[in-house]
Amino acid sequence: MSAESKKAHNFIQSLIEDAIAKGEHTGQVVTRFPPEPNGYLHVGHAKSICLNFGIAETFGGECNLRFDDTNPEKESQEYIDAIKQDVEWLGYTWGGDVRYASDYFDAIYDFAEELITKGKAYVCALTADQMAEFRGSLKTPGRDSPYRDRPIDESLQLFRDMRDGKYQNGELVLRAKIDMASPNINLRDPILYRIRYADHHQTGDKWCIYPMYDFTHPISDAMEGITHSLCTLEFEDHRPLYDWVLENITAPCQPRQIEFARLNLNYTITSKRKLKRLVDEGFVDGWNDPRMPTISGMRRRGYTPESIRTFCDMIGVNKAGGTVDVGMLEHAIREDLNTRAPRAMCVMRPLKVTLTNYPADKTETLVLPVHPQNPDMGEREVTWSQTLYIDREDFVEEPPRKWKRLAPDQAVRLRGGYVMTCREVIRDDSGEIVELKCEYDPNTLGVNPEGYKPNGVVHWVSATDSVEVDINQYDRLFNHESPDSDKDSDFVDHINPESLVRLSGARAEKGLVAPRTDLPYQFEREGYFFCDQELTESAGRPVFNRTVTLRDSWGKGAK
Ligand code: ATP
Ligand code: MG
Repeated sequence: MSAESKKAHNFIQSLIEDAIAKGEHTGQVVTRFPPEPNGYLHVGHAKSICLNFGIAETFGGECNLRFDDTNPEKESQEYIDAIKQDVEWLGYTWGGDVRYASDYFDAIYDFAEELITKGKAYVCALTADQMAEFRGSLKTPGRDSPYRDRPIDESLQLFRDMRDGKYQNGELVLRAKIDMASPNINLRDPILYRIRYADHHQTGDKWCIYPMYDFTHPISDAMEGITHSLCTLEFEDHRPLYDWVLENITAPCQPRQIEFARLNLNYTITSKRKLKRLVDEGFVDGWNDPRMPTISGMRRRGYTPESIRTFCDMIGVNKAGGTVDVGMLEHAIREDLNTRAPRAMCVMRPLKVTLTNYPADKTETLVLPVHPQNPDMGEREVTWSQTLYIDREDFVEEPPRKWKRLAPDQAVRLRGGYVMTCREVIRDDSGEIVELKCEYDPNTLGVNPEGYKPNGVVHWVSATDSVEVDINQYDRLFNHESPDSDKDSDFVDHINPESLVRLSGARAEKGLVAPRTDLPYQFEREGYFFCDQELTESAGRPVFNRTVTLRDSWGKGAK
């Protein structure tokens, strides 16, 4: 993967290099990406994916894909399938088969019994409320549970009874016996197992007890021979527990947990729980709504895997949190598409133009490059005819100063075609402009006119040889820089009411009757637009999603 070769050094890479140089690390580097299948992946996950797969690639190692599936009620096969598709689409190949933490439930259970047998775990019958009270606070130490010193055999029997379905949800839990006075609350006898009567998408009804994340994760890492377990900063305080688990069981190896800062993007939500709310409450049209910061939403909008990987390179990996400007993500896709997107013309709000001096029965085929800077991308054909369409916004009757488009008695060049001059404005009964009568200059194809200067270049299509398309003009989903940080409002209150503007009746050049589905187009002077295959099928005509405008007008307006 060529993009990786220019990847900037990050601190994790340096740590591993140092460890290798000092002989502290030998053998393969193995990382993992461990999503919980309780939603679709978002742009924050892309950072973690690029980091984990990138590190493995840098050191010639492997990265596993492991579903961290210990909460069966919130998880589903739909999410598993979507996550696999997204990781592959980003261009990564995981080591071996897809893995599941649930693959290790038997082993995790045995390790729990091992801890009990060693006197390092016990079955506790405090209620959730009591447990919270006994836990203490950041300022005060916790108190020992009255069940803490119950005999090993009794805990072992109770734990087996929990497994065998003899207790109800919440009646008993298995806890690690660490230190109720620890300044780190995570070490105050954390819960290792709880009772949950829930069917699991992988293990069915085999289990009615499920291990907690903090117990599952280090064991799963060790079972897979993970060498570097990279996670986000909120797990820093969990690291002593991660290490405690592995030090107190007969673990096959001791992976090293290293934390990095989460990606926060302004104008964006990166929490699966909140994104799920947008879906469940109908604020968006599903997880892959093109306004969603999900990988699948970005894919449908026209983001390329390359642009997302480049963005992840640009933001880097570090320990310090902070918020990244979403303008950077938009910059990454613009840069990628600027060099790769095929060009086409699409008139968003068609205004009829009749060329009074061009014969009604004549047409000409004009040949334009698919990409002006890249001849290898080939050529395309458009038709010149008596009736054309230009965009309503490219004509005004009273032009302001420095107007660079069409106005009465002024001339413009039609992109790739001839120069024409506006001679007459036709209105309907309500006074609305419905047509322009223009004169074209036959001596101006590819050459400047003699004696006068056109006022600019506008895009156009032929009336006879263009296709009707629908346009979804997408904008940022939120109009608040930090939609979920405002304590006095609900983040959904900050949804941008203009995040989707639908335009029907736009007209595109004829080649778009069967649009490309691998890359967005640059609709000249408008922006980048990607064919929505799903909507195209249901509409019976091409539907395009605006990926991004040509220029970042939002950023400029806001500053
Ligand atoms: P969410 O809060 O959206 O539910 P999560 O951390 O609970 O996120 P997981 O499925 O557990 O979601 O995440 C899988 C991996 O992706 C984890 O290692 C997690 O640290 C990482 N990750 C999640 N969100 C981000 C983010 N915003 N930036 C970087 N990494 C992230
Ligand atoms: Mg999580």
